[in-house]
Amino acid sequence: MVKFIYERILIIKMGDKFVRIINSSEITNIVKDMCIEANIYLGNDVKNAIRAYEKEEESILGKNILNILMKNCEIAEEKQIPICQDTGMAVFFVSIGQDVHIEGMNITDAINEGVRQGYLEGYLRKSVVYPIDRINTKDNTPAIIHYDIVEGDNITIEFAPKGFGSENMSKLKMLKPSDGVNGIKQFIIETVKEAGPNPCPPIVVGVGIGGTVEKCAQIAKKSLLRELGNHNEDETIKQLEIDILKDINNLGIGPQGLGGNTTALAVNIEAFPTHIAGLPVVVNINCHASRHKKVKI
Ligand code: SF4
Repeated sequence: MVKFIYERILIIKMGDKFVRIINSSEITNIVKDMCIEANIYLGNDVKNAIRAYEKEEESILGKNILNILMKNCEIAEEKQIPICQDTGMAVFFVSIGQDVHIEGMNITDAINEGVRQGYLEGYLRKSVVYPIDRINTKDNTPAIIHYDIVEGDNITIEFAPKGFGSENMSKLKMLKPSDGVNGIKQFIIETVKEAGPNPCPPIVVGVGIGGTVEKCAQIAKKSLLRELGNHNEDETIKQLEIDILKDINNLGIGPQGLGGNTTALAVNIEAFPTHIAGLPVVVNINCHASRHKKVKI
């Protein structure tokens, strides 16, 4: 085994194979910064969407609310405080290149340590409790981490602090295959209608279609980390996203549920092959504080 440094990247050669070494402390530091930054700075994709909808909003009250949401973002940036008091449960999607070796802590511990440090140093609310006795874990861990093994020698970390005002309004339904596209549309729109003002609209509607129960929920969550303005690459699904968004914005719920034509900023759908006997659908709602961040190491 030969160790060498190329362009400040530590690499080892094992036989014919090159493996990149990443120290777990680098992962921890990056996660710490991501936790703080994602909670203070709302992404430009979300801010641009809110501004664009503000121009189109027909309700005067709705327009004012969208304007206030933008002012709230400016204040958060200026004063370096979170956009919202609910700094969420820490959700990660991590893609690990198969030519990477992690030195130090295991990656799950490294990420949780980053969450611990980020929520402490950033004065972010610690919102995680054990589900039965409701005792707080006191450092916002454990994080929810989804892993994927990919080609290459990079690690990509995507992070979303997920507020529960919107998470609580999410739903799973095992549709029958015969329910088809109309059944899917109906379920999504009913879920948003029932949620009303609770998920702090304008919302982002994440949808998973297919797979098994857990896969469906996972892809629904993943869809919430997509940059707003980007559609699913599949033309049929893209059209479904556009049509459902239009229907949702005709519901009249409006910004913060006080009426208007801006109920949702986007509908993001991800699909996965499923069993011949089933059609699982998950609707995972995010609020206007649709925070997400991505870093490639
Ligand atoms: S749903 Fe979103 S905006 Fe509403 S309280 Fe929770 S994090 Fe804040």
